[in-house]
Amino acid sequence: MEGEKSNTYEVIIIGGGPAGLTAGLYASRARLHTLLIENALFGGQMTTTEAIDNYPGFPEGVTGEELSRLMEEQAKRFGMETVNEEVLEVKLEGDTKRVQTSESSYLCEALIICTGTEYRKLGVPGETEFTGKGVSYCATCDGAFFKDSRIIVVGGGDSALTEALFLTKFVKDLTIIHRRDALRATKIYQEKAMANPKIKFLWNSVVQEIKGDTVVRGVVVKNVKTGEITEFETEGAFLFVGLLPRTQFLTGLVQRDEAGYIITDENCGTSVKGIFAAGDCRKKLLRQVATSVGDGATAAFAAEKYLEESK
Ligand code: NAP
Repeated sequence: MEGEKSNTYEVIIIGGGPAGLTAGLYASRARLHTLLIENALFGGQMTTTEAIDNYPGFPEGVTGEELSRLMEEQAKRFGMETVNEEVLEVKLEGDTKRVQTSESSYLCEALIICTGTEYRKLGVPGETEFTGKGVSYCATCDGAFFKDSRIIVVGGGDSALTEALFLTKFVKDLTIIHRRDALRATKIYQEKAMANPKIKFLWNSVVQEIKGDTVVRGVVVKNVKTGEITEFETEGAFLFVGLLPRTQFLTGLVQRDEAGYIITDENCGTSVKGIFAAGDCRKKLLRQVATSVGDGATAAFAAEKYLEESK
C-alpha cells in the first residue's frame, strides 16, 4: 500500500532524549532512512535539569535546556525525520516491526527503544489530589512558584539532592525527608546539601499523608525508628523517590527485569532480533547523560550491522 510505503523506515527510534538523539545522529550519518518518534520535548529528562556538570566537553557545566537544543540540532543535521506522537504499541510482523502511535502506524526493520524513565510516585493519600497544587516531581518546572515558601523534598538520591539544591534559589526553608539516616546521593551533592544553610534534614522518616485544602498545607510524617507521628507544615512537597522505566507498552515483546528495565547484551541488543534498547530504559549500572549517549551510538551501530546482515 502507498500509505504504508511512505511510513516505512530502515530504523525507527522511540524517544528523543540523549540516547535517542545520539542514535538518530549515528543512524542518519550512516545514511539509514531514520525516523525518531518523541511525544514531548527533545532532550527528555535533560530538559528539566537545571545544570549538568558531569557531561564532558562543558568545563563550566551546561544547562539541560541548552544541551538538549544542541543535541537536537546536531541529530537533525543529517536528514533524520521526526514526529511528535505517542507510541502505544509495537508488534512483530515477521522481521518487520510495526510501531503504532496515537496518530499513525510505522514500519521498520530495526527498532531502537530509548524511552527513558519517569519519576516513581510515593503512593500516599493526598499525592494525586494535590499534584500541581503543591505536589511536584520537577523543581525546574515548578520551583519559581515557591518563592519564599517552606517546602519539603522526599528522597535521598541524586534527584532529591540536585533538585533540593536548585530549589534553595527560591524557597525560604527546605527540609529533606529521608527514610534512612544515610544518603544514597553522590558525595559531591551530599557535601553541597549539608553546607547549604537553607537545607535541613529529617532522618529515618517517611511521609504518610499529604494534607491541604485547595493547596498543600502539610504532611504527616512517621519516624520509622520510634514510630512517632508528627504533622509538618509545608507549602510544597517535591517527591523524588526513584525512577520507573517507560517500557509498559512493550509488555510481552522483549525481555525485561522485575523492575521493567529492558535486558540487553553489551551491544544494546534485546531478546528480539532487530530491536535494540539504549539509555535509562535498559538494565545497567549507571544512568547518566554520558552513558545514554554511549548507548545511543552503540545501538545505532548495532542496528546498522543487523540491517547489513539481514540483506
Ligand atoms: P534513586 O537513586 O533510586 O533514589 C531514590 C531515593 O528515594 C532513595 O534515597 C530511596 O531511599 C528513596 N525512596 C525510594 N522509595 C521510597 C519510599 N517509598 N519512601 C521514601 N523514600 C523512598 O533515584 P534518583 O535519585 O531519582 O536517581 C535515579 C538515577 O538517576 C540514579 O542513577 C542517579 O545517579 C541518576 N541521577 C543523576 C543525577 C546527576 O548526576 N546529576 C541527577 C539525578 C539523577 P533509599 O536510599 O533508602 O533506598
